[in-house]
Amino acid sequence: MLATQVDANAIREKIAALGLKVLAGGQITREEGSFLFSLESTADIFDLLSWANRIREHFKGNKIHLCSIVNVKAGGCSENCSFCAQSATYQTQSPKYGLIDPEPIEGAAEEANKNGVTALGLVAAWKGLTEGPVLDDVCRRISELSQGGKTRADASLGIIKNQTVANRLKEAGLECYGHNLESSRRFFPQHCTTHTFDDRIETIGYLKKAGLKICSGGIIGMGETGEDRCDLAFTLREIGANVVPINILNPIKGTPFEDVPPLPPLEILKTIACFRFVLPKQEIMIAGGRTVNLRDLQPMIFMAGASALMVGNYLTTVNQPVEKDLQMLRDLGLDPNWDKHGFIDQEECVEAEAAPA
Ligand code: SF4
Repeated sequence: MLATQVDANAIREKIAALGLKVLAGGQITREEGSFLFSLESTADIFDLLSWANRIREHFKGNKIHLCSIVNVKAGGCSENCSFCAQSATYQTQSPKYGLIDPEPIEGAAEEANKNGVTALGLVAAWKGLTEGPVLDDVCRRISELSQGGKTRADASLGIIKNQTVANRLKEAGLECYGHNLESSRRFFPQHCTTHTFDDRIETIGYLKKAGLKICSGGIIGMGETGEDRCDLAFTLREIGANVVPINILNPIKGTPFEDVPPLPPLEILKTIACFRFVLPKQEIMIAGGRTVNLRDLQPMIFMAGASALMVGNYLTTVNQPVEKDLQMLRDLGLDPNWDKHGFIDQEECVEAEAAPA
């Protein structure tokens, strides 16, 4: 009994020491990350959450960044990502259509603006973009969104194999490109074999060289281990992701992952908190799968360190109404009106915090 108490105190002290290290501007090591991801008892996880909350408060204050997405080309994708309803490899109920006209994008931007959403991401289900007429059309849609001035123009358009394509997107007015690594390098081939982890890393290289901000995270709950999640968090730190979306698998009927058992909500909250320790200044955004997997525990994502929220419907699944999310933020004393149009970079967040009122 006494020995157990000593162990519990040692764990509590170690979590606190790592929390203080991060608050002081330090970076935790891979080994320290592994320790946090391996925590199991409810008491330790709640301890971790309270430190993650302090770290979020320290670097982000009470500001919450909101993003929305619009599917500009749906279904029929050549890739075989095992979680995805839009892959042509699987029989799902997901809609299929080609590149949409400007009007629905204008409507989505209007709606996003009304809800105080910072960024609207144009998302397309295809392998990626090469030079040609489709790129010309996509660039036109990005320019229209950017010049409309209602939200920041973001996009997630798959793999890029060429610097010119990344530069064209930037010139069109794109500010931030969404390109998830999805999981660790080790686990990646277990959910996709039509392209590689390195294809994704290479794409991010072109985007950064073009001067674009990077929105990159992954999906948890696909059967990966805690070590895989830890590896993903450290890789995202290495590549310099600015926004880190965490999706939680929502198994889609017809996909190879349709029967994967859900992650327990506490494991999800622990993962968010560990990401906050590894990525203290980044926007950690909770995206797809939160409603179905967290249910009534959704407000706890902010205590776990989340600083951003995907609102409105996801690509192939329905989210809770935006009004309910906005009410949740108001009830928690959090402010969703985070710099409506510009991109607040991590270093600027720190400066803003340090500046006198
Ligand atoms: S996740 Fe993207 S690349 Fe993979 S199948 Fe779905 S739409 Fe295609």
